[in-house]
Order: sequence, then C-alpha cells, then structure tokens
Amino acid sequence: MFGFENKHVIVTGGSRGIGAAIVNLFSKFGANVAFNYHKNIRAAERLAEESRKFGADIFFDECDVRDFHDVDVFVKKTLHRFGSVEILVNNAGIWEYGPIDKMTIDDWRKTIQTNLDGTFYFTRSVARHMLENQIKGSIINISSTAGQRGEPYYSHYAATKGAIIAFTKSLAAELGPKGIRVNCVAPGWVKTDMSEEALKKQEAEIVAGIPLGFIGEPEDIAGPVVFLASNLARYINGEILNVNGGNVLCA
Ligand code: NAP
Repeated sequence: MFGFENKHVIVTGGSRGIGAAIVNLFSKFGANVAFNYHKNIRAAERLAEESRKFGADIFFDECDVRDFHDVDVFVKKTLHRFGSVEILVNNAGIWEYGPIDKMTIDDWRKTIQTNLDGTFYFTRSVARHMLENQIKGSIINISSTAGQRGEPYYSHYAATKGAIIAFTKSLAAELGPKGIRVNCVAPGWVKTDMSEEALKKQEAEIVAGIPLGFIGEPEDIAGPVVFLASNLARYINGEILNVNGGNVLCA
C-alpha cells in the first residue's frame, strides 16, 4: 500500500526546503525521483547525494518553471531517464513582499509565472504523458493557507495559491475518470529559507497562534504529500489537505 518501488516522481523546486524533504521521503520509500532547481546547484547536488543513499535513481537538472520550453525539456529528459512518470508534485514557488500600491507589473508577473504558470506547464506536460500512456497517476499541488484566507502584502502570492486550489479541483474532476488523482497540500508556517526572515522577526507571535505550539519542519509537509501519492489515499481526489498545526481552520 505504501511502497513506491518502480514509481517515478517529479518534484519541482526540489533543491531546498519542502521540495527537498519531499524528494528525500519518496526516495526513502523506494521511488526514483527527478527534481529541478533554478539557481542553487550546490543544494541540488547535496540532496541528490543524500537521496541516492536510499538506493533511488535520482535525476536533477536546472529548469526555470516560468519557461514552458524549459519545462518540456526537463520532462522529456526525465522520461528518457525513467521511461515513465506516475507522480508529479508541483512545489516550486516564491513568496515576495508586495504592498499593492508599490507592486510593479514585474513583481506581479514574476509571482504569477513562478507559482501558477509553472504549475500549469508541468501539469500539462506530465498529464499528456499520463493520458497518452494510460497511466494511473497522482498529481499533488502545493498551495498555502494564503490561498484560502488571503494574505496582506502578499496578494499576488495569495492569488496564485487560491488559483492552485481551483486548478486542483478542476483537474480532479477532469482527470479522475482517467485514473489520475489530483490533490493539494496547503501548508501553514514551515521553517525554510522562504520563511526565515519572517520567523526571525515574529516567531513567538506566530507560534502563539498555532494550537500545536510549534512551527512545522519541511518533513511535516513531505509526509502528507507522500501519503496522498500512495495507495492508502487511492479514494482521495480533489482534496485540499491543510497542514498547519491548526493555525488556520479552513472549511
Ligand atoms: P524555498 O525554501 O524558498 O525553496 C523554493 C524552491 O523553489 C527551491 O528549490 C527553488 O530552487 C525553487 N524555485 C524558485 N523559483 C523557481 C523557478 N523560477 N524555477 C524553478 N524552481 C524555482 O521554499 P519552501 O518554503 O520550500 O516552499 C515550497 C513551496 O511551499 C512553495 O510553493 C511555497 O509557496 C509553499 N509554502 C511554503 C510555506 C513556508 O512557510 N515555507 C508555507 C506555505 C506554502 P533554487 O534552490 O534553485 O533556488
């Protein structure tokens, strides 16, 4: 029910943070994993070395998720290496401060292109492969609490994360009949490079708002992602799994 032997996974933005924990956990459970990075080749190399210790075949390459050509090339290279892909995790993302009166068109576009266009490009490319080959697959998109309750000064980010939830539900209905489950994990605060500055400034205040009383680690998100991809979750489709210590109780 839980093993991933002979499964092939793509994790976007796998080099650091939550993506790296997802790569590692899939590898531990026997999957072969391909992940992309954008700038941080050293982190990607370290992660590949670590994950290969579990015996997994690990492929990684540079790929800017904002560029559909880059994405198609990355998916083609992965298929050349693995032969098939059964699981896709759309994780790559950015979270940049943007008060609406100061937000430039470039700020807006950069966030939309990274978080939303990237999710679309990877999903399109991998879904085509799954449909053409009648693969019973699983796609997991990473949203955020911001996608459900909004987030002041990060409205572009929240807009992408809300869109990812709508995208997930739409594709769950569209691809479910073909045997492809589409789900979403929506993390709250997690200790990564993305949240480091904010946590430095307001960790105590943030923790006070979390009923479980601590900030999540990347592994706390990786577990639910791997669960959703597994056969244990074979009847879960179109679900938004909130993983936030009870910080935001979403309907
Ligand atoms: P992170 O530590 O900043 O890592 C971001 C990852 O995305 C890195 O692997 C980075 O690659 C990659 N990336 C960024 N821009 C890219 C691009 N244009 N093309 C390809 N890859 C790109 O972030 P994280 O905290 O792990 O976040 C992962 C996901 O969880 C994001 O979708 C984020 O919105 C979501 N999330 C995070 C939190 C949190 O508190 N951390 C909360 C809610 C949701 P490089 O290493 O090469 O730069």
